[in-house]
Amino acid sequence: MKKLSKTSLNYYLSEYLEDLGRAGVKDFYRGDEAKGAKQPPENAPESAERAKHARTAAPAPKPARRAAPVVPIRGPESAPAITAESDPEGRAAKLTELAAQVAKCALCPKLVANRTQTVFGTGNPYAELCFIGEGPGAEEDLQGKPFVGRSGQLLTDMIEKGMGIKRSSVFICNIVRCRPPQNRNPEKEEANACRPFLDATLEIIKPKFICCLGSIAATNLLHSELPIGKMRGKVHEYNGAKVVCTYHPAYLLRNPPAKKQAWEDLQLLMAEMGLELPER
Ligand code: SF4
Repeated sequence: MKKLSKTSLNYYLSEYLEDLGRAGVKDFYRGDEAKGAKQPPENAPESAERAKHARTAAPAPKPARRAAPVVPIRGPESAPAITAESDPEGRAAKLTELAAQVAKCALCPKLVANRTQTVFGTGNPYAELCFIGEGPGAEEDLQGKPFVGRSGQLLTDMIEKGMGIKRSSVFICNIVRCRPPQNRNPEKEEANACRPFLDATLEIIKPKFICCLGSIAATNLLHSELPIGKMRGKVHEYNGAKVVCTYHPAYLLRNPPAKKQAWEDLQLLMAEMGLELPER
């Protein structure tokens, strides 16, 4: 396993990605987003069907308010920079090694032919909460980071202004690590091919909570055929983690009224995590 310098043992994957670059590993991780017209049509956000399936769902729980800002799940405000002593599980090193494998992957010819680089993911290796999106968009493909651009900014707002936690305290990745051309949905074969990387990522981070962003993330992670409108608003389970599904930020940008449902989903997630609503 690649030996990391003390500096590179940092909570943020973006920093040890730089180490990879210095070690000669290029195209390490990539970004995504700008999924403008990408999100498939969503089902009616609020339906009797959804309510029937909902476990804790509508109306969303109303945790007690507290003054912002926020308590990071884990991050620079609650923990110092990571050291070999504070990283006994070596998660940063494991993620770095996995990302190097992803960077060399060529299992999806149609994606490999069009990608600038792979987009592994970014965030806190010790995150209790992981967000999973669909796949890199044009801007993510260029930057090598997930959820940048307008959708990324909205996701940041959802995390920091909505949930009241730092984006740097969570981990963010996608179902596929290479950009589908023209921002099309990943094909089932591509999602299946990339699944071992997703599972390996989650195995390293061991999140207690997962938030699926959009139908592609929700249906692939949970092996479901249900539309996102019927998967949101309740708590699912995946390998011991509690999973909440909501709309993809790109969809919310195109359909602002759906932000109400997304906020309900975030409140559901926050209630499960024991977080209070930040002052708004
Ligand atoms: S999407 Fe995943 S499986 Fe397909 S080529 Fe990219 S890294 Fe490999």
